Amino acid sequence: MEGRLRITEIFHSLQGETRSVGRPATFVRLTGCPLRCHYCDTAYAFYGGEWQQIAGILEAVRAGGNRLVVVTGGEPLAQADVLPLLTQLCDAGYEVFLETSGALSVAGVDTRVVKVLDLKSPDSGECERNLWENLPLLNPQDQIKFVLCSRADYDWAKDVLVREALAERCEILFSPSHGALALRDLAEWILADHLPVRLQIQLHKLIWGDLPGH
Ligand code: SF4
Repeated sequence: MEGRLRITEIFHSLQGETRSVGRPATFVRLTGCPLRCHYCDTAYAFYGGEWQQIAGILEAVRAGGNRLVVVTGGEPLAQADVLPLLTQLCDAGYEVFLETSGALSVAGVDTRVVKVLDLKSPDSGECERNLWENLPLLNPQDQIKFVLCSRADYDWAKDVLVREALAERCEILFSPSHGALALRDLAEWILADHLPVRLQIQLHKLIWGDLPGH
């Protein structure tokens, strides 16, 4: 039987984060996540959704008209059939980004996909879920993202950065948790420590706030 996935929404918007920030993209948001980060802004994707065949998802992406496709969640890797979807999107010529919590293995992900892998900080409440075995599976095109809530989170991320030589693997993103950590504080800490990371904001929140579908 052809693969199918539970989908919360497929929509057209600007990419709010990562190296492709600001570009129009089609987002495929999969339903469900085994984590419960304190700052989660997509809790509406934990439950519900609709089952869709991969062929139907590809058709919706084609109708979206964007070259860039972001597969996100929830946690996309919680559904096994996301792997053939990713491969078929690549085969169809799309530039594909996968946003994942870092708690599930990325071993089966098509190497053409740009993986954006979170490392969950202590203040997220889900630090114990980090699957460190994922780090050797990253390619130079991938990105590691830290969402930081406090100075303690920042210090933890800085230690991980050094301990795991992360900057030698791929690009590193530091992002303040919305409403918890001031952008300027994080900027000044990064500069003071000369960290080889990219500071990022969530562009979509600046434009649309917490409105779903953006
Ligand atoms: S991993 Fe992402 S979707 Fe899941 S609870 Fe954390 S922030 Fe929300």
